[in-house]
Amino acid sequence: MNKEIILFAMTKINHHFQKLSKEDLFQEIEKRVAAYKEKASTPHLLNLSVGDPAGPLCPSVIDALTAASKELGDKNTFRGYGPSNGYLFLREKIAQNEYKNISADEIFISDGASSDISNLQEIFSIDNRLAIPDPSYPAYVDVNVMAGRTRPLLKTGKYGGITYLPCTEENNFQPEIPNAQVDLIYLSSPCNPTGVALTKETLTEWVNYAKKNHAVILFDGTYESFITSTAPRSIYEIEGAKQVAIEVRSFSKSAGFTGLRCGYTVIPHELKVQDAGAIHSLHALWKRRLETKSNGVSYPVQKAAAALFTVEGKKEMKEMIATYQERAKTLLEGLKSLGYTVYGGVDSPYIWCKTPPKIHSWEFFNFLLENTHIISIPGVGFGMGGDGYIRLSAFAEPVIESLTRIKNLA
Ligand SMILES: *Cc1c(COP(=O)(O)O)cnc(C)c1O
Repeated sequence: MNKEIILFAMTKINHHFQKLSKEDLFQEIEKRVAAYKEKASTPHLLNLSVGDPAGPLCPSVIDALTAASKELGDKNTFRGYGPSNGYLFLREKIAQNEYKNISADEIFISDGASSDISNLQEIFSIDNRLAIPDPSYPAYVDVNVMAGRTRPLLKTGKYGGITYLPCTEENNFQPEIPNAQVDLIYLSSPCNPTGVALTKETLTEWVNYAKKNHAVILFDGTYESFITSTAPRSIYEIEGAKQVAIEVRSFSKSAGFTGLRCGYTVIPHELKVQDAGAIHSLHALWKRRLETKSNGVSYPVQKAAAALFTVEGKKEMKEMIATYQERAKTLLEGLKSLGYTVYGGVDSPYIWCKTPPKIHSWEFFNFLLENTHIISIPGVGFGMGGDGYIRLSAFAEPVIESLTRIKNLA
């Protein structure tokens, strides 16, 4: 028998990927759930880990999608490539309905917040010092690891080269200004995973810091529509923010677009950086990048998003959000009455639940899985600062049954 000669390509890979932590959070959760299912005789699992609206899409969206698809099927109304920054009809709707002081030209339509919040770092040098809340949405750290903006993962579970901004009970989950000089700051409000929105005071401090220290803020406003408190819905509500902040938003969580895919990013014309003696417009850099790397978002999807700004669409979206807000409130109050220390839930669909004393988040995850058959997310999956917590989602339906099971634990 001929021995097969194995050939390896010798093209060098991006070695920064080797620095990523080996465990993917969701794979690890799946693995543990699968192992548990095998052990226990198929208990009825309640999944409170999902960060995905239960759906369905609202009627206005479906009508718009259908009508737009029909347009594409008619040679008189067919459309090919659209503008890489999105159709004006949608950008205008967003500018009119969502902002007081942003023009349609400052808005870029995207296939969702994830790609923009991940790709925006590309227009900045890898030499910038990052500030990232801890805990936070894992992409903020991981995309910068991939880009080579960090040093290797340390034994502490943190990356060298990142200034972590602890969000703790003590500071009411409001990231504080660090001692170190930072250049690129990620902020998310309401925050995933803590579910807590940043206050006007916190955002004002950060905008002032950025102005004074010539830094840029990348603001993730994915959960803005869940705010019920007086917290700002946009960073541009803060005086001077247009000079220092980029805002990313999504229709994923507000209108169930996680499968349909649409979001947008705001880069004000006023946002300029001075580098190597020249003044650069971040709007122009991002536009240039998009023109090369993207041919935009599909026409039916943009029509569907625009339908959310009609009278009917607004009403339907509001009702959808209200359902999740109601569930979040029930879960929050229920857990409180059972003696748990819980945060979030008021301005977001997530509850940040403290684990019992001296219990790590993976241990509590296992405990809940085995004793209540509830799937949660261990807080440590969002950064070391998340240990000692689990995240529970109100997107999932079985809130009451979950509470009953947790109650029966005692
Ligand atoms: C879900 C989520 C996103 C991604 O949203 P898409 O628009 O679906 O890509 C971005 N940021 C945070 C904080 C999220 O929780």
